[in-house]
This record gives sequence, structure tokens and C-alpha cells, in this order.
Amino acid sequence: MFKEYDVIVVGAGHAGCEAAAAAANLGSSVLLITMNMETIAQMSCNPAMGGVAKGQIVREIDAMGGHSGIIADKTTLQFRMLNLSKGPAMWSPRAQNDRKRFAEEWRLALERTPNVDFWQDMVSSLIIKNDQVIGVKTSIGVEIKCKSVVLTNGTFLNGLIHIGEKKFGGGRTGEKAATGITEQLKELGFEAGRMKTGTPPRVDGRSLNYSLMEEQWGDENPGRFSYTNVPLPTEQRCCWITYTNSNVHETLKEGFEKSPMFTGRIKGLGPRYCPSIEDKINRFAERERHQIFVEPEGWNTCEIYVNGFSTSLPEDVQYRALIQIPGFENAKMFRPGYAIEYDYFPPTQLTLTLETKKISHLFFAGQINGTTGYEEAASQGFIAGINAHQKVHDKQELIMKRSESYIGVLIDDLVTKGTDEPYRMFTSRAEHRLLLRQDNADIRLSPIGHQLGLISDERLELVKQKVANSEAIVAFSKKEGIDMSAANDMLEKLGTSALTQNVKLFSILSRPQVGIEDLRQVSPAFNELLNKYDKETVEQAEIKIKYESYFEKEQEIVNKMQKMEDKDINPNFDYSQLISLSKEAREKLLKIKPRTLGQASRISGVSPSDISVLMVNISK
Ligand SMILES: Cc1cc2nc3c(=O)[nH]c(=O)nc-3n(C[C@H](O)[C@H](O)[C@H](O)COP(=O)(O)OP(=O)(O)OC[C@H]3O[C@@H](n4cnc5c(N)ncnc54)[C@H](O)[C@@H]3O)c2cc1C
Repeated sequence: MFKEYDVIVVGAGHAGCEAAAAAANLGSSVLLITMNMETIAQMSCNPAMGGVAKGQIVREIDAMGGHSGIIADKTTLQFRMLNLSKGPAMWSPRAQNDRKRFAEEWRLALERTPNVDFWQDMVSSLIIKNDQVIGVKTSIGVEIKCKSVVLTNGTFLNGLIHIGEKKFGGGRTGEKAATGITEQLKELGFEAGRMKTGTPPRVDGRSLNYSLMEEQWGDENPGRFSYTNVPLPTEQRCCWITYTNSNVHETLKEGFEKSPMFTGRIKGLGPRYCPSIEDKINRFAERERHQIFVEPEGWNTCEIYVNGFSTSLPEDVQYRALIQIPGFENAKMFRPGYAIEYDYFPPTQLTLTLETKKISHLFFAGQINGTTGYEEAASQGFIAGINAHQKVHDKQELIMKRSESYIGVLIDDLVTKGTDEPYRMFTSRAEHRLLLRQDNADIRLSPIGHQLGLISDERLELVKQKVANSEAIVAFSKKEGIDMSAANDMLEKLGTSALTQNVKLFSILSRPQVGIEDLRQVSPAFNELLNKYDKETVEQAEIKIKYESYFEKEQEIVNKMQKMEDKDINPNFDYSQLISLSKEAREKLLKIKPRTLGQASRISGVSPSDISVLMVNISK
């Protein structure tokens, strides 16, 4: 009934969808097996994509030929570029999305991808021969052969849902848990752990009083994630902000003795930076209120996502607390919040390609690796899908560098340091974040996507044009002077000192108060030049003019460190022979099997003197 596939992807969440699309677009025959075809690319929690550091990841996926950015753009309810008051390394795109349409668009995209077949079923075990995966077995007893498998089981492995004192098996509300895989992998010697996450209640938007809340609109000129020409949003929906208060907190506290978190029934660690409301009240007892974002779930539904109110308290406590929030006095609840515990596999068991070290041709991506978030999952799926294809076709593996992408930082952190609590991306995790901006992901990464075959010649040409055109604008600004009498009025209005002599445009633009758009009015020649180019090209030029010297310094640091990153270590290097290494370093190096000296230096417990020993010995 089934042919032998190049790649089987298990799970159609954010990781699985990107993995299947990437492998198929590269030419692999792909079977996407998922427990429920109706929930392909389901957003389990917040109907939103992007945000700080996560928005940069979505742009990186897009720049290399992935789909998440395009799907997010097609289903945007509201778009905001966060952190615009900070430097460009912090600018982060975020979109509120239509949950249902997001899933529909992903399914459509996959159905339109030649080489992707679908099968609705639960994979219950892997077929392994000589430490290599060669197929899967499903819950209805089907065996399907393949050359590589990407596991993207998300929160489904032995998932256990908690609401107050009630608990029941499930991978997500209304969906069955997945069993069999953890048990088999443990038997094969894999280490597994337990994590937890939670989601807030959803309410009926018709029952809310928005006049008691603050409106939060999207950007007046909204942007998008994708570098392709997906149309920009012409219409956006409003979100609202309201706050909890002491009455809400007191009511929630009444449920604490039945809370699965506080009674110890939940064993797994939850996401530190996305705590439940009960956790916030407990940990920050001095805070009189917590912010609640009231977010629509779609264009054609009145359902509202109560962001900031994630909880696993009993449903009646959730309800009694909710109706004390301003604007929620008459709220009707559609679904209660809940917490979920699930199995994950410490990601130090993977190589930087996301292939497992124990079983060859087996790749893990997404929440199964201990991460949290759609963007983190999607990016891992994308890389695992590519590497599964490359492996099957005996092609060069793809390892992303920390200095070129957040995706590289994410994977290197996971594989090198591991994680025992749900890992989410932050800008602070990237030491070279000045270079890893949302505005230049296309410049950084499209050449990689192109080399792989995921980015067309035309698309790469557009990126090259953007670079050349932005450089032309910078060059013009260095050459073209500005008349001080024309500029001084404007400078005064912008709150910066007047000129005492004529200067070049570049010099005025280096001032933080002056934007490139301000100079249009006072320099007709510059205005004429800028009119030739699109918004992103002009923005790129402005960023270069204002920050190029910082970027150059950062690049110098990267170049210096690159020497360590370029020093390859044979994955089979025998550290046990090196008695001058500390015992801890020897154990960790044997476990992690770093690919480069740079990666070795980031392993906790490997000291600078261990690195010196390695430096001498790996080149022998
Ligand atoms: C209740 C809840 C709350 C969350 N809260 C947050 C939050 O606050 N912040 C945040 O960033 N993220 C949160 N998340 C996490 C976010 O949903 C995930 O990070 C993201 O969806 C992970 O993507 P994934 O592709 O790894 O897995 P998932 O999106 O979970 O998808 C897994 C897919 O695999 C399929 N599957 C699983 N096992 C099998 C099998 N054996 N055979 C066939 N198919 C299988 C499932 O049907 C599903 O399609 C939450 C998730 C849940 C469930």
C-alpha cells in the first residue's frame, strides 16, 4: 500500500510542517503522518507569531525558503513591529493571527507541494536496523519503510492534561496523547524528561465590555514577515489591554490548594518566561496587578484569547476570577485554561544537524527537544527536514552558525548546553545579535537557501539588488551636501542642534534624532533618489548609515572567534586518551561530541585550559 519514502515526518505541528515542506521542496518523497489531519499546524496556545527574537527567527526561516512567514502574513489580524524605540537589533515583528486560517493556509501549502503524501494515524514505534531507522509502525498496525525519520511530536508524548484536581491523557485539549515512542526510545538508551506548559481560558467576545479596556491597534503602516511579495495587510483588528486586581488575585488564591502546580501533582518544569497567573501571583506577591492582553482569535469568530491568564486552577475558580477583571464582568467562558505535562528528550543527544547520535537517519525537531514556541519549533523542523533530505541523498549537511542566525544560536544552545526547562529564544542569547537583525535576515541567509535549492535565482537577485541599492543610497548620502539654511528649521523641530556650516547628508543622518524620511523635505535630490526604491531598501540604507561602525566592530569580533569555529574536531575523536583534560571535561566532550573547537568551548565544565589541551591535540 505504501512505497518506501525518502523521509517520513511524524507530526504536523509547526516543526513537522516546515520539515515536510523543506524535504519535499528539495526533492525528497515525503510522508507526513499525523494523528489528526484537521489539526495540521494548529496553534496550540496563542494565535500569534513572532515577537522579540522569535520574529527574527520567522524572518530567517522565510529568507531560506521556509513557509511560516508567508502563512503568518496571509493570516494576519494585526501587525506590530516591537521595540522600534530601541536599536534595530531589537526591532521584532509580531503578528496576531487568525488561528483557523493559519492552519488552513498551512494545509493548503502542503497539499500544493509536490512530493508530500499524508497519512492520518499515530506512529507508535520506529523500525530500527543496525542502529539506523528504516521505517515506522503505526497504531493501526501499518508498517511504512523510509530512509530518514523526523520526529516532531510536540506536547503529545504521554501528554497529561491538568485542570485543578482533574487530570486526563491528551496531547492538547480534545486530542489524544501519543504513546509508544518514548518507551521504545528509552529502551534504546535515550534519556527522556518531563516538561509542562499551560494555556489560558478562551472567552466569548460578545460578553466583554471593551469600553473598560485600553485599545491596542496595530502599526499604521504594517509590515510583514516574508521577504516575498505577500500583500501587506489592508485591514487590522484591534486588541485590548486590561489588568487583574487584588480581588482577582484573592479569588485565584482560593483555588491554590487544588492547583496541580502547588500540590506537586505536576512534576515537569514549566516555561520560566511564560508563567501561569497563579505562578505570577505567588512569585510576585507585591504586584497589585498583572497586564492582560485581550486578543481576537480570528476574523470570523467572537472567541477571545485571554493572554497573560494561563492557568490550571479548577474551572470554577478560573471563571470567578475572570469576571472580576475590568471589562470581563459578564464574561462567558468558552474553554477553561489547562496545563499539560509531556515527555521531551534532552537535546544533547543530537548533533548540530538535529540527527540523533544513537540512531542514524533519525532526526528530532520542536517541542520534543525541550523548546517552547511555534517559531523555535518551526525553525528546527526546517533544518531537520533539510538535513533529513541531505542525508538520504548523500549531500552536505547544513549546520547553522551562531554568528549568522538565531536558528544557529538556538540549535547550538540546545545541542551543546542542553536544557532542563522549556527553552525559548531571547535576543540576549545571541552574542552577535547586532548582526542578527530582522531587517537583514534575507541578506544573511538567502544565499544559503539558494545554494540548497530552496530560493530561486530571481529571489536571490532581488536580495542582491537590495544590497546594491541600499549601498547606493549610503554612497549618495556621503557625497551630497545639505544647505544649512534649509536644514536648520527641521533640525530645531527635531530637537537637535542647528548646523553652523554646510555638511553631508550622511553626517546629519548619523544623529539619532534625524530619520531618513526627514531629509526628503530638505533635499530634493535625496528625495528623488529615495523615490526609486522600496521601503525595505531605504530602511536598510538608514540602518547602515546610523549603525555601520558598530556592525563592523561586531564583525571583527566574529572574524576573530571564527578561527575557533573553523577548527573542526572529528566526531569520533577519542577524548579518553587525553589525560591532561579535567575529568568533567572528558565526560562532557565524550557526551556532546563537539564538531568544532568553538562548540567545545561553550560546553559547561570545559575550561580554557581544557581548550588549550584540545587545541594542541586535535591538530595532531
Ligand atoms: C496547552 C499548551 C500551552 C502552550 N503554551 C505555550 C506558551 O505559553 N508559549 C509558547 O511559546 N508555546 C506554548 N505552547 C507550545 C507550542 O504550542 C509549541 O511550542 C509548538 O506548538 C510546538 O510545535 P511542535 O511542532 O513541536 O509540536 P505541536 O505543535 O505540539 O505538534 C505536534 C504534532 O505532532 C502530532 N503527533 C504527535 N505524536 C504523534 C505520533 N506519535 N504520530 C503521529 N502524529 C503525532 C500531533 O498530532 C501534532 O500535529 C503551548 C502548547 C500547549 C499544548
